[in-house]
Amino acid sequence: MHDYVIIGGGIVGLATAMAVGNKYSGASILVLEKEQDLAQHQSGRNSGVIHSGIYYKPGSLKARFAREGNRSMVEFCREHGIKHEVCGKVIVATKPSELPLLDSLFQRGLDHRLAVARLGPEQVREIEPHVRCLAGIKVPSTGIVNYREVSAITESLRPDLLLIAPACLAIAWPALVASIRVQKSSRSVVSTTSWYPKNGIS
Ligand SMILES: Cc1cc2nc3c(=O)[nH]c(=O)nc-3n(C[C@H](O)[C@H](O)[C@H](O)COP(=O)(O)OP(=O)(O)OC[C@H]3O[C@@H](n4cnc5c(N)ncnc54)[C@H](O)[C@@H]3O)c2cc1C
Repeated sequence: MHDYVIIGGGIVGLATAMAVGNKYSGASILVLEKEQDLAQHQSGRNSGVIHSGIYYKPGSLKARFAREGNRSMVEFCREHGIKHEVCGKVIVATKPSELPLLDSLFQRGLDHRLAVARLGPEQVREIEPHVRCLAGIKVPSTGIVNYREVSAITESLRPDLLLIAPACLAIAWPALVASIRVQKSSRSVVSTTSWYPKNGIS
């Protein structure tokens, strides 16, 4: 019996498990993943960018979460020794018709209070020697990381590692959730088609 069952061991499920664990101390949390390992789908096959949020509409939740997520992801990597790099990103206009869009992105960056800088073609070339452009913007807070490595750290998420302590977290795979039955008692029964009791879960 668990207080919380989270379906899917991608970055969203794992981050949710961590957040629930931090919020409800002592809660028992179970993450069910259908594959043989964590982050085998989108989370482990994406471009590995820690986004700055520059593209999102100022004031939107997406913009806020991207900025906060950028900060907390870098913090998480530093804390747990996960290889990452805050290398920044350069956005360029290669045609005159792209210059107004570049201007509005620059303004967006300022609205988001990102430390954006305008670059001339030569300054862009100093950063990216193979790029030919009319103008660019440097967004310093963009980074890179392997999200599979970020997810792998949660394999060792145990109360004694104090990552989500004092909650009790278990991750099980391969465990494909086939049905969820909500009972009158407000308890739900989650059924899986396969089950490997890793971490001694039953
Ligand atoms: C091409 C591409 C590039 C991207 N690049 C970036 C990037 O650079 N930076 C960035 O921040 N975001 C990027 N994203 C977005 C990012 O990858 C996703 O937002 C994120 O990985 C979604 O995580 P998730 O946990 O929701 O999904 P997933 O990682 O797909 O996890 C879902 C998990 O649920 C499991 N599952 C599904 N059904 C069941 C079931 N019935 N029972 C048990 N388990 C189940 C799956 O096996 C899977 O492991 C990119 C997306 C794409 C498509």
